[in-house]
Amino acid sequence: MDFSESDRVKNVRGIIREFMAKEIYPLEPEFRSKSFAEMLPKLREARARAKQTGLFAAHLPEALGGGGLSLTEFAHMSEELGRSPFAHYVFNVQAPDVGNMEILIEHGTPEQKARFLEPLVRGDIRSCFTMTEPEFAGSNPVWMGTTAKKDGDDYVLDGHKWFASAADGASFAICMAVTNPEAETYARASMILVPTDTPGFEHVSNISVMGHRGSDYATHCEISYQHCRVPQSNLLGGEGMGFLIAQHRLGPGRIHHTMRWIGICERALDIMCRHAATRELAPGKPLGSRQMVQQWIAESRAEIHGARLMVLHAAWKIEREGASSAREEIALIKFTVARTMQRVLDRAIQALGALGMTDDTPLAFWWAHERAARIYDGADEVHIASVAKRILRGYGIKVS
Ligand SMILES: Cc1cc2nc3c(=O)[nH]c(=O)nc-3n(C[C@H](O)[C@H](O)[C@H](O)COP(=O)(O)OP(=O)(O)OC[C@H]3O[C@@H](n4cnc5c(N)ncnc54)[C@H](O)[C@@H]3O)c2cc1C
Repeated sequence: MDFSESDRVKNVRGIIREFMAKEIYPLEPEFRSKSFAEMLPKLREARARAKQTGLFAAHLPEALGGGGLSLTEFAHMSEELGRSPFAHYVFNVQAPDVGNMEILIEHGTPEQKARFLEPLVRGDIRSCFTMTEPEFAGSNPVWMGTTAKKDGDDYVLDGHKWFASAADGASFAICMAVTNPEAETYARASMILVPTDTPGFEHVSNISVMGHRGSDYATHCEISYQHCRVPQSNLLGGEGMGFLIAQHRLGPGRIHHTMRWIGICERALDIMCRHAATRELAPGKPLGSRQMVQQWIAESRAEIHGARLMVLHAAWKIEREGASSAREEIALIKFTVARTMQRVLDRAIQALGALGMTDDTPLAFWWAHERAARIYDGADEVHIASVAKRILRGYGIKVS
């Protein structure tokens, strides 16, 4: 494995660092005191300037209006962007739109691409992904209550979803619904495109998460499908392909998320080190002169370094052998990086003392918003169990 960064990666990192310094970091204080909706005019202006870098929607091929980066190249960009809470949005590489773009590219018909994908890539609209249901354990995704029944040329959807991120203001949802209840377990559900202005698509509420309901993109929403009728031509891929499509989406999406988390770790470590170097416990005695603080810094550095290498290795394997042969690596990085991020954020907040609890730095924002990293994208325990079962199979133990 080659550990050197290609010229292209160096160039991308350089462009993004310069952009962050000029366009993103100066907006942060305002971002921390205003709602996302209030920030939209400025974020749109920043988006217009991001387009000029050639890295808008950089994960997509140039022919589709993207920046043409490979998975590994985009991983490096995602790390740089992760250093600020809204930089992914500015470059139109934010979840869940990135994943939805990839689904539409792989499985969309020409009509679906023209109507849903093209405006999404341009950043003219946003989307959401509705799979999880309050009444059913998301950790067992094959068990769900939402149905899509055929009626004439249409599907009629009924069901209750929640934690649909960014659904407030989204133009369409991808809905996971049971279309073939009699089929074998993994062939029962399908993904269906639902414009959010369809009668029967109800945005019930922005869920209050850690004291914040959020607004616009920065939301997690409760959604109700009530006799929501869409044409059968809104089906993605084939009937019963819902889980297969979800699996395909998983590998690259995991690389994007975890490298964003590494970016958060790097920023937190930077904030911690700056504080350790400048905060004096007594005249001439900076915080960084204390061994306990030095330990936080060194341990964070080691953990971030290890986590980054794991993610880059997983991306390398996906690119060479495909996501299914990198299943174990994809599961490993989920819980490893989520935990690393939580530990590094915790140390940074502790090192800053009361300042760490304020909104003068992004640490408190991430502490509140990224605790969920151990839950979304599959709870850590599910990934831990799947890795352990795989290992134990090699020892002749079959655990169900
Ligand atoms: C911030 C955030 C954003 C999200 N965005 C979206 C979105 O855009 N679209 C969407 O469809 N969903 C989204 N989700 C939902 C997410 O995918 C689910 O929360 C996740 O899959 C877990 O499902 P659950 O919440 O139903 O927990 P449950 O399945 O009820 O599990 C509860 C807990 O049980 C434990 N557990 C579960 N299985 C096992 C096991 N096998 N062994 C041991 N312990 C176990 C875990 O600790 C888990 O946290 C989001 C969630 C959050 C928090």
